[in-house]
Amino acid sequence: MSEPHEETPQARMARLILALRTQGVTEPRVLKVIEGTPRELFTPELFRERALEDSALPIACGQTISQPFIVGLMTQALKLDRRSRVLEIGTGSGYQTAILSKLARLVYTVERYRTLMREAEARFKELELTNVITRFGDGGEGWPEQAPFDRIMVTAAAPGEPTALLQQLKPAGILVAPIGRGPVQTLRRYTGDGKGGFQVEDLIDVRFVPLLEGVAKEP
Ligand code: SAH
Repeated sequence: MSEPHEETPQARMARLILALRTQGVTEPRVLKVIEGTPRELFTPELFRERALEDSALPIACGQTISQPFIVGLMTQALKLDRRSRVLEIGTGSGYQTAILSKLARLVYTVERYRTLMREAEARFKELELTNVITRFGDGGEGWPEQAPFDRIMVTAAAPGEPTALLQQLKPAGILVAPIGRGPVQTLRRYTGDGKGGFQVEDLIDVRFVPLLEGVAKEP
């Protein structure tokens, strides 16, 4: 039996990609972008050894970097194309943002912790992701000045239907968000019907940190 830590980074990544595919992330473009994105760069030093495990990990400010499977599934559910202008709520480490930026035209991302925002911005710069536009603020209100968006992804759990965000979606746009107040939420996809209504689909159960109101007070 080989211990995971004895594997080469390439072998670890191959195993991660296989795990994602087995769980239903089958879109080749999504898998390719995950394979090409160094998750260790988004992971704190203390957990870097585990960056290529398929699990969520702690980041600064008591938040988490999402599990790769969930990142893959949510990205796939968004049905991006090269022309998409995407709004992401909850930048966190910026890992999901980086994945989105490689599949879309523009990504607007909002975070309520200034520390996390700054760290994520440094990573976008290092990776030369020039199509990411960041904002420190309360993402629950969306980004009205830049609306409407083709796609919206929320990476923190909304207590109920994200009405303000749905209003900032194009008529045939897609929004993916974890919805629920408890420790386990439902990953929900809203697809615009082009006439102001939505088709709603429940995808899977997920565990996200909550979407909170206002910006965070930091020392
Ligand atoms: N996609 C991120 C997930 C980070 S966890 C990653 O893979 O790293 C969710 C993030 O949402 C946290 O950083 C949290 O601070 C942020 N968040 C919660 N409520 C928010 C709000 N109202 N506006 C903006 N960001 C919010």
